[in-house]
Amino acid sequence: MKKMINHIVLISLDNLRGDSFGPDKYKYLPANIRENLKSGSHLMEELAAEGLNFRNCFSAAPFTTASHASIFTGFLPLHHGVFEYFNSDMKEKTLFEYAQKEGFSTIFQTDFPMILGEPIGFTRGIDKYYIEDEYAALEELRSHIHSKSVSFFHFGGIHYPYGFHTLKFGGDDYRKKVQNLEKELDIDKNKLPKDQFDEADRMGEDKDLLFRYKRIVEHLYARKDFKRLTELYFEGIDYFLEHRFRSFIVELRKVLENSNHLIVLFGDHGEDWSDDSKGHYKSLTPGVLHVPLIILGSDIVQGVIESNVRTIDIAPTILNVLGIEVANIMDGVVLDIQNPIEIEKNEMTSIAQVWLGVGKQELISHIDSAHRNKGFTEKMKTIKRGESIIKHDYQLVRKFDKQGQLENEKMVSLSGSPVPNDVTEQLLKELEEYNKTSLNIDRKNLTDDSIREQLKLLGYNI
Ligand SMILES: [Zn+2]
Repeated sequence: MKKMINHIVLISLDNLRGDSFGPDKYKYLPANIRENLKSGSHLMEELAAEGLNFRNCFSAAPFTTASHASIFTGFLPLHHGVFEYFNSDMKEKTLFEYAQKEGFSTIFQTDFPMILGEPIGFTRGIDKYYIEDEYAALEELRSHIHSKSVSFFHFGGIHYPYGFHTLKFGGDDYRKKVQNLEKELDIDKNKLPKDQFDEADRMGEDKDLLFRYKRIVEHLYARKDFKRLTELYFEGIDYFLEHRFRSFIVELRKVLENSNHLIVLFGDHGEDWSDDSKGHYKSLTPGVLHVPLIILGSDIVQGVIESNVRTIDIAPTILNVLGIEVANIMDGVVLDIQNPIEIEKNEMTSIAQVWLGVGKQELISHIDSAHRNKGFTEKMKTIKRGESIIKHDYQLVRKFDKQGQLENEKMVSLSGSPVPNDVTEQLLKELEEYNKTSLNIDRKNLTDDSIREQLKLLGYNI
C-alpha cells in the first residue's frame, strides 16, 4: 500500500549542469573542452542510484529567479509573471502556500537572499526563512519530524566563486584559490570587475573575494579560455559536494530516518562557457537548460527515466503526492513517480526564454529598491532576446535583436540524429501558442508578430 508522505525536502543545487554526473557526464560539452576534465566526487551518482533519476530534465529559464518561480508554482514564466531576472512577483500560488494551508510546516533556506527573497514572493507561505544556514533549517525540520513539513534547501556553492560561496564555507581554501589564480593569470587584484552584482549581499573580505573571483572569470572569458573556466567550474562542483553537501546529506538522512518522506533534488540551470554562452544568465544552450532531477525516499524504486520532463513538473507532482488539489491547472504535469513506466509514455515540450533590458548596474539598483520597498514599485523596460523549445531530441533556438526583431533561428539536434522536416513548424506553432497565452505584460514586444510572419512564410494560413 502507498505510504502517506509526511515530509517533502526540496533541494536546489544552483548552477549544476544535468550532465555533471553519471552516464551523461559531459554529454553537452564539446570534445576539446571535455578532454582531461577531472572530477572526483561521486556523491551525485550515489544519490541518483538510490532513487528515480530523470536523465532528461529541462529548466524553464536559464537564471535563478524565473527558474525557481517555475519550480515552486508549476507554471511557465509568462504565466506566473517572473519571466525576467528581477522585475515582478509571482502571480500564482507556490507549493509552499498550498502546503501551509493544509497544515504543513514550511521551511526555506537560501544562499541567495537578494534574489530568492521577499520582493518576488519567495517568502510567501513560508513559516521559517533561513539565510546560508542549512543546519539551522535542518534543526527546524527535526522539530517537526512527528508532524508534517515541506522544506527547501538552496545551495549557491556551485555558482562562482566556484565551490566556495563564502568564507564561511570555503575559508582558507577560497583565499588561496583566488590568490593562486591571480598569480597564474597575472591579474591586478585591486581592479573591480565589470559585473558587481552579488546574489548574497556579502560584506567585507567576502565581497572583496567575490569581486576578485569575478575579475578572474572576466579575464578568462575575454581570453576565450572556455576550457579553463569549465575546469574551474567542475573543480568547484567537487569541492562543494565533498566539503559542504555530503555532510549535509548525511545529517538530513539521519533526521528523516524513520519518517515517510521524499527528497527532490534538482538544479535550476546549468553553466556553459563557449562562444554561445557566457555562464548561464542569457544562454539557451543545452548545457544551461538541461538540469539534474532526482527523486528518492519512501516507496520510490530505483530507476532511470529517459523521456523528457521539465522542472515545472515538480510542483504538480509533489502536490499530487501530498493529496493537495490545485486551484489553477498548472503548465507542469503530475509525474507518476510510483509507476515510472507511465512517465516514459509522456511527450513533453520544454520552453525557456530570455528577457533583458537595462545594464547590470541599473539592475542592481532596481533589486536594492525592490528590497527597500518590499516589492516592485516600478518596472524596468525589458525585451525578449531569445527563446528555446525542446521536444524529443530537438531544440529550436530563436534570438532577437534589441528591437525585438528575429535575428537568428536554428534547429539543434541534441542527440546528433537528423531533424525531421516538419519539426521546425511544429515547434514554432507551440511557441506561438505560449507567447499568445502570456499574462497581459506591459513589457511585451513585437516578437509574436515575427513568429506569425515566419509561419506565413512556411505556408500556414493564420
Ligand atoms: Zn541559479
